[in-house]
Amino acid sequence: MSPVIAFAPPEPADWQAQQRAARLTTAALLDHVGLTPADFSAGVVDDPDFPVSVPPHFLAQIRPGDAQDPLLLQVLARGEELLPQPGRLTDPLEEADYRAAPGVLRKYRSRALLIASGACAIHCRYCFRRHYDYGAAMLTRSGEAEALAVIAGDPAIEEVILSGGDPLSLSDARLAALVTAIAAISHVTTLRLHSRTLVAIPDRVTPALLDLIRATRLNVVIVIHSNHERELSPAVSVALGRLRAAGVTLLNQSVLLARVNDDAITLAALSRRLFAAGVLPYYLHLTDPVAGAAHFDVDEARAAAIDAELRGLLPGYLVPRIVREVPGKTAKTPLWALD
Ligand SMILES: *Cc1c(COP(=O)(O)O)cnc(C)c1O
Ligand code: SF4
Repeated sequence: MSPVIAFAPPEPADWQAQQRAARLTTAALLDHVGLTPADFSAGVVDDPDFPVSVPPHFLAQIRPGDAQDPLLLQVLARGEELLPQPGRLTDPLEEADYRAAPGVLRKYRSRALLIASGACAIHCRYCFRRHYDYGAAMLTRSGEAEALAVIAGDPAIEEVILSGGDPLSLSDARLAALVTAIAAISHVTTLRLHSRTLVAIPDRVTPALLDLIRATRLNVVIVIHSNHERELSPAVSVALGRLRAAGVTLLNQSVLLARVNDDAITLAALSRRLFAAGVLPYYLHLTDPVAGAAHFDVDEARAAAIDAELRGLLPGYLVPRIVREVPGKTAKTPLWALD
């Protein structure tokens, strides 16, 4: 109520400090949300190879005292991660086979994907790249010339995708340098970023990032990654609105996750909230058989039932395409085309 507070200047939004503050022990995360290991059937674990990481903004959206909270389940290392999971792999997509140069994945003809960063602000426990050896696979400053030469040398590449890790964990200066170099390749028309940072640290949408997007000749697409409507806080909506105003096409990809979003009502609510924030649903991924994440799997029959129900609930443009990444295919495979 106090006018002093109402007119106080906003806190400086230091997204990099928020990124550093994300690293928590599993015990600290539980403390934060008022739960104990006994609230989880298989207990909880700490995995030093893929530690818990939850930026403060995402943490604030978790409902305290709720062991079923769909946001918490995405970031809490539960005991299931370390149980034996037969048939699960560390590189389920065989991505090592598609490396065109260090840091460049060339699976699909018209687009090249750059592993622009090995870091993510938030660690999603279902991540298919959780065992990725970024050391060998990541784009480095010294490898950048070779990566750009691969793109420049093939006019079939129309779109460059910055992925990772998360490309928005790079500094604005580093991103600007990379985007400028990509824009100098005349046959590239589109720049795409795949980023979960926008729902984890909405302050990542800095004036410098917006300037960079407005200035480039490239058509910019950002595919955000949100799995539940409660991730789309008012602050996230404001950040997305700024990107839209800068001319970005905004899409969302989700992963179909057991107990997080594996029902049509939850997914329909997500689509509606995305649309209200100016974002269209794009892909809804079936989980990949990555070791340590089997407890998130939803089977294809259940996915098909959810898809049918979603079509009844939503206009077609708000129904995400359910896909699976099948190694060796020339595009992602829609649910209906899986054998
Ligand atoms: C998913 C993916 C793409 C992008 O595919 P779209 O269907 O265009 O979204 C590009 N490269 C790789 C390696 C991918 O896994
Ligand atoms: S943000 Fe993406 S790459 Fe990073 S941990 Fe989550 S799912 Fe994996």
